[in-house]
Amino acid sequence: MNEVPHMTPTAPVTGDGTPPAVTVRDVTKQYGDRRAVDGVTLDVLRGEFFGLLGPNGAGKSTLVEIMEGLRKADSGSVAVFGESPWPRNTGLLPRLGVQTQSSAFFVRQTVHEHLRTVAALYGADRAAVDATLESVGLGDRHRVRVDDLSGGQRQRLAIASALVHGPELIFLDEPTASLDPEGRRDLWEVLRGLKAEGRTIVYTTHHLDEAEALCDRVGILVAGRLVVTDAPQNLIGSFGAGGKLLVPVGRIDEAGAAALPGVDRVTVQGGHLVLETRETGRVLAALDPLTGLDGVQTRMPSLEDVYLDITARRAGGTDGVTAPDDRAPNHQEQQA
Ligand code: ADP
Repeated sequence: MNEVPHMTPTAPVTGDGTPPAVTVRDVTKQYGDRRAVDGVTLDVLRGEFFGLLGPNGAGKSTLVEIMEGLRKADSGSVAVFGESPWPRNTGLLPRLGVQTQSSAFFVRQTVHEHLRTVAALYGADRAAVDATLESVGLGDRHRVRVDDLSGGQRQRLAIASALVHGPELIFLDEPTASLDPEGRRDLWEVLRGLKAEGRTIVYTTHHLDEAEALCDRVGILVAGRLVVTDAPQNLIGSFGAGGKLLVPVGRIDEAGAAALPGVDRVTVQGGHLVLETRETGRVLAALDPLTGLDGVQTRMPSLEDVYLDITARRAGGTDGVTAPDDRAPNHQEQQA
């Protein structure tokens, strides 16, 4: 049999001699003529909060499901805690927690009954059920029927269902999708708590502010390829994504703004001219004698700026947020 995928790779080891939580080596997955995952290599370290980012269809779910042992890669290798997750590795299952977008619920049960049922599947005890509900902020919802939970509360219950057996490695698929801003912030605290407990988290999200706030490292997947992996702050710094100055319309016209020293690009958004620059101080100094600085707002670059820049460039877009040719990324960007 000519089958090499999912052999345990020679996983790199950490300082204490343990392998990373997840090791992915040159993994590919093809559906028909579409390569959903295209040669991805990645380590997720123990205790790390790792965010997998990318546009819809980039291959995030496929890659995560391969890590979880739910799908088989066509080629390459995957190890979770040094072991192959495929074929279904029952020894690994208690160590993994998986929350998906389509988490199933026992809708006619109460919250507590539902989680007890899930816990029983893993042999987790009742004390774990109570503690887990408390940790996700559902401590006062025990007797509410799952049917009657709000969307945000269901998300919490889905996460609780992935956590109740105390897994070391947790996969979360857009856990804050469809939550209102308050619900998202509350859930951030839950996720930070999991990290503080030393658990490893691999999660996908389209909320770039969230990834910036929570993740130790992010990987950006575009068309099946992992184009960059780094800490959000390193990405922001090394891409040199520009800051923005928002100048109320009417103070200076677009041509005048574009001619200011240090301005890379000018657009109009709402009631402001948006001046993009990598030399904020220089532009402010030039602007001050012309318009004064009252009402001028400064926006520093964010992970979202970097993400939009990378995904636009990889997609062949021409209107990236920052695209001067003289930038020399020094982070772990993989060339296609
Ligand atoms: P993402 O999670 O980033 O949105 P997916 O992993 O779901 O991306 O999908 C990557 C690509 O693979 C998409 O083009 C998608 O249509 C395709 N794909 C995913 N699952 C299947 C499948 N079971 N059969 C055929 N194509 C699939």
